[in-house]
Amino acid sequence: MLPKPSIRTLQPYKTKDLTYQIKLDSNEATRNILTDFKAVLPSDLFLYPDNYAEQLRQKAASHYGVEANQIIAGNGSSEMIEILLKTYIEPGDRVVSFEPSFSMYRVFSEIYAAKFIPVDTPAPFQFNINALIETIKKEHPKIIFLCTPNNPTGNVLNNEEVLKVLKSTDALVVVDEAYIEFYDTAQTMIKYLNDYPNLVVLRTLSKAFGLAGIRLGFLMANSPLIDVLNTVKAPYNLNALTQAFGTYALKQSSTVLSYLERVKELRKTLSDAMQSFGIKVYPSYANFVFFESKIDGLFEKLLAKGVLIRAFCQPLDNFYRVSIGTEEENHVFIKVLKEVVNHA
Ligand code: PMP
Repeated sequence: MLPKPSIRTLQPYKTKDLTYQIKLDSNEATRNILTDFKAVLPSDLFLYPDNYAEQLRQKAASHYGVEANQIIAGNGSSEMIEILLKTYIEPGDRVVSFEPSFSMYRVFSEIYAAKFIPVDTPAPFQFNINALIETIKKEHPKIIFLCTPNNPTGNVLNNEEVLKVLKSTDALVVVDEAYIEFYDTAQTMIKYLNDYPNLVVLRTLSKAFGLAGIRLGFLMANSPLIDVLNTVKAPYNLNALTQAFGTYALKQSSTVLSYLERVKELRKTLSDAMQSFGIKVYPSYANFVFFESKIDGLFEKLLAKGVLIRAFCQPLDNFYRVSIGTEEENHVFIKVLKEVVNHA
């Protein structure tokens, strides 16, 4: 049987099966930041987990500064993006986002047969809020995705810009803050949740907490919206191991803070080094750096020397994203990049 039309041409999410020594393509942490795995293993794995992840949500609510009824937890913020589309989109409804941004906004939109409308943001990738608002007024989307700091470009939207969007529309304005800890958590839109019933904020433990492997993300919004999402989510969506480890991780957030400072230092060192030999680097507030190079086959040349970074396709075919690695990994990346540049 054929799948539904909206997914017939869809390509699977690429997790490339390549050989490399250093992996700097997916914005993961460089090591386990939290290591006390055994201490938090739940003992009652024969039972289904708590359907609403009560303990975890209580902890997350105090960590993020919201009420427990303003939060829902899922398998990464990816599940939270999907649940919004599942809940609000009927075929043909519109979804608006800047592009380039996180590719899954478009993919999930298309799976749910929404019409995805990008607001193109070519180099130097400055967001044009007025152009976004014009598109919103013309297209009447159901959902608007804003990513700050933005993946893959690393730049940010300020609170005033997001507020301007919120004031222009009744659509859901989803602010994806997956990387905000590498910027400044004071800039979070969470503080405006009580003022805007259409504001949704996404956070994840995959980046700053270094826990991409446990798959844990949160969606925050006003409680009536959370109540609706709870009617749509799959029963027991979050497994007991993730609930237990996530609760433990949120209690250890001070350990995470020192790691964040280190990433910010290494980001500066890496960007400066790249610029010193003529690479065009875009200012980044995340745990990666976005850069431009016209060297033919740069991705393959780096991979041949053992370094895996992220390359993009049209219209970003001269652009790359490299995650901030350890000091040693960054040295190797700089060394091989310099070799490739010098031989071009
Ligand atoms: N949002 C952004 C901007 C991302 O870059 C990613 C992962 N790369 C996600 C959401 C999804 O993260 P996760 O599902 O691991 O929480």
